[in-house]
Amino acid sequence: MKLLISRALPDSVMAAAKARFDVTTRPTTQPMSHDECVAALREQDIVLPTLGDAFTARAFAEAGTPRCRLLANFGVGYNHIDVGAARAAGVAVTNTPGAVTDATADVALTLMLMTARRAGEGERLVRVGGWQGWHPTQMLGLHVTGKTVGIVGMGRIGQAIAKRCHYGFGMDVVFYNRSPKPVDLPARQLATLAEVMAAADAVIVAVPGGAETHHLLDAEAFAAMQRHAIFVNIARGDVVDEAALIAALRAGQLAGAGLDVYEFEPAVPDALKAIENVVLLPHLGTAALEVREAMGRMALDNCIAQAEGRALPNPV
Ligand code: NAP
Repeated sequence: MKLLISRALPDSVMAAAKARFDVTTRPTTQPMSHDECVAALREQDIVLPTLGDAFTARAFAEAGTPRCRLLANFGVGYNHIDVGAARAAGVAVTNTPGAVTDATADVALTLMLMTARRAGEGERLVRVGGWQGWHPTQMLGLHVTGKTVGIVGMGRIGQAIAKRCHYGFGMDVVFYNRSPKPVDLPARQLATLAEVMAAADAVIVAVPGGAETHHLLDAEAFAAMQRHAIFVNIARGDVVDEAALIAALRAGQLAGAGLDVYEFEPAVPDALKAIENVVLLPHLGTAALEVREAMGRMALDNCIAQAEGRALPNPV
């Protein structure tokens, strides 16, 4: 069976894929173009796409009756795939839930601590030779221990973040979630996003991207935050109205932000780069070899189930 892997995966995953499928791998790290998506739907049995490979309604429409029967996405987030259009074209979609959870939660904590304790700013100061020595009021940040974290989107990653914050840093946890969500740690679900934004010393966003959450974090949401509070986004860039975030940071409506994802990724606005109390990471959420191997194995398990006519382990 013909399998297109849109971007090269770790060696162990590539070897396993090649042992089972007739594999084509694109020789670039850039996302697939529209034409490549159309061609892949027409020519491949299975495609293993990833972040940014835009399988839009238009691509499915142009592909006609696709040869491809499965998009086995590498990643839990699949907002680059129009799942409704895929379904209508008879193409199943799977993802890699769970494999990404702890690593992404770890990056959320990295950003929370770096932002709260001004670590990016401090590191830059040392590197440019601007540090003139310790003194009692140097670079004072936000002490997170015992404070309140507000999680937006209390799914797998949201809960992993909440556990780290509560059991690691003695933080109270409040959260906003689309549906009622019982969780196995002390945490209060609040009725509105505004209540969470207002209650939290640190807000961390972990909802999926897509039409439903587009600009969920807007000017109104940032206006509800406390001025000493910090904001972290490890979800998807377009969940945040980036212009509104920049305006809120400039106006001092919040104390800082830590971002792993961007609205027009990989473009990062100069306005954000110019703000000192912002920590900017290049979408590192799952960037560890064993995590990417686990994601690859999971995506491949879905491909193999498809090839053997078995139920797909991780349908979306
Ligand atoms: P998940 O288990 O499906 O959790 C998503 C949570 O968000 C669910 O609890 C869901 O509520 C909630 N939600 C969905 N729409 C909402 C809305 N409109 N308002 C409020 N809450 C809403 O997914 P996950 O595994 O935690 O992953 C979350 C997202 O993280 C992924 O979709 C991906 O985009 C992102 N991510 C980023 C990285 C990175 O590298 N930075 C890595 C991995 C994942 P319900 O209970 O109602 O469904």
